Amino acid sequence: TNPKSAYRRILLKLSGEALVGEEGFGIDPKVLDRMALEIKSLIESGVQVGLVIGGGNIFRGAGLAQAGMNRVVGDHMGMLATVMNGLAMRDALHRSHVNSRLMSAIPLNGVCDDYNWAEAIKYLKLGTVVIFAAGTGNPFFTTDSAACLRGIEIEADAVLKGTKVDGVYDADPVKNPDAKLYSVLDYQTVLEKELQVMDLAAFTLARDHSLPIRVFNMNKPGALSRVVLGGDEGTTITH
Ligand code: UDP
Repeated sequence: TNPKSAYRRILLKLSGEALVGEEGFGIDPKVLDRMALEIKSLIESGVQVGLVIGGGNIFRGAGLAQAGMNRVVGDHMGMLATVMNGLAMRDALHRSHVNSRLMSAIPLNGVCDDYNWAEAIKYLKLGTVVIFAAGTGNPFFTTDSAACLRGIEIEADAVLKGTKVDGVYDADPVKNPDAKLYSVLDYQTVLEKELQVMDLAAFTLARDHSLPIRVFNMNKPGALSRVVLGGDEGTTITH
């Protein structure tokens, strides 16, 4: 392992929307390939990478329910959307010559592996990227919850949440140009100030199991590497 690396094993969470790029809907192959290369450089530095991808670029259960659909069915569709993103990411990683496995919380025989904790750890130790798809496998949860859950299960050093902004701010940075970026925060302050990091179920899971959360800008070239290699990047949330 690279001695400079701040983390030995990470759980990287990418939102489905991060994959849209210039496409407006679905997956932009250019964005996918760029992310695969960024992940490849982490693997080359000896860091073990677990990956959770959202599905919001295709379907979200809450949105479908608003349009009249049964929420549980909508969430099933959302979870299957994360499998589609996972298939695309596995393919992009393989094209970049990175070993990867796709494990789904919903069994999809012939399409990908079933989620298996011991197998996941075995592959991580071999330097294989393990993509955890279908979220937690249960409706009414998000892929942020899945990221924290899998992060705790695989004993990741941190869950890294790639977003469109540089980290956690004291106000919405899109609406307020004077918003201040936090470099470090504790869980309690995030809750007291109601700062938007993750939904409460995901956030309290991370807090209760002392899983550090790192929020950073996935669209900023090299940001992911700086986060993992110990650079000054994004916001770190711990006790
Ligand atoms: N989902 C679910 N259970 C989970 C994870 C996800 O039901 O454990 C569904 C839910 O409908 C969610 C959708 O899958 O809206 C896509 O996930 P998410 O919204 O977290 O994706 P992101 O916003 O990260 O793209």
